[in-house]
Amino acid sequence: MVNSNERGILDLAGRRALVTGGSRGIGAATARLLAAAGADVMIGYRSRHDDASAVAADAAAFGVRAAVHAADVATADGAHDLVQATIRELGGLDIFIGNAGIWPEEEVPLSSMDAARWHRTMRENLDSIFFTSAAVARSITDGGRLVLISSTAGQRGEAYHADYAATKGAVISITKSLAVELAPRDVTVNCVAPGWVDTEMVAGAISGHGIARISNGIPLGRIATPADIAGPVVFLCSPLARHITGEIVNVNGGSVLCG
Ligand code: NAP
Repeated sequence: MVNSNERGILDLAGRRALVTGGSRGIGAATARLLAAAGADVMIGYRSRHDDASAVAADAAAFGVRAAVHAADVATADGAHDLVQATIRELGGLDIFIGNAGIWPEEEVPLSSMDAARWHRTMRENLDSIFFTSAAVARSITDGGRLVLISSTAGQRGEAYHADYAATKGAVISITKSLAVELAPRDVTVNCVAPGWVDTEMVAGAISGHGIARISNGIPLGRIATPADIAGPVVFLCSPLARHITGEIVNVNGGSVLCG
């Protein structure tokens, strides 16, 4: 178990964090690292109760409070319900990680993308950020931290996944807008934009393209692990990042520098 002395300058003891999409992938790694830094954590998820409970057990092993709550964050009611459950279980909300999302794997040119695909991606990736961020903005304590998860796709586009790229670009716009709105309360709002991360979301694409081929386009020579993303997220939640707001932290091993 990590004690507060060992946590040192990244100590988040007493802070209360909500992570959406915390049952697996990047969200699970972030929830575990927040707990290792001393934060109490609420793990939001949609359907995988056992996975969420396993993450909560890992978090609780660090001596913090950890809870799970199922809600569809792409709805106003679900987002409100999750934020209220966090406040009820943890006694307040100081840190929000807006991470839940989807990446539709099928490659579809914009010219033949149907409305169902477009609206589903908007709902899952953008409505979710709108509804959760709005509910959090109403409830987070002064001095709080929001970190929203975007993507390299939100900055340079992603051919055959224009729907996904559009939502992730919008997450950056929301980050910058909300950063100014919440600054008077000393609440920071930042964005972490990963490149390829080895999670279930992209498992098919990674195996299809070949890990070696994707890794060759990354100067640091490998696809990120979820823990590679969690580190910068937790940094942005820490006192070390107190004067950073409205920024995008790219975590991609240098992939955008090539090709
Ligand atoms: P993942 O492994 O597929 O996990 C997705 C998580 O989101 C799960 O916890 C899932 O809950 C939850 N979720 C999805 N829709 C939800 C909804 N409507 N309501 C509540 N929870 C919902 O994904 P990941 O790869 O960790 O990705 C996390 C974030 O990073 C996403 O925003 C993604 O766009 C972004 N990102 C990922 C990559 C990558 O290469 N993996 C790259 C750039 C950006 P259940 O487990 O209950 O289903």
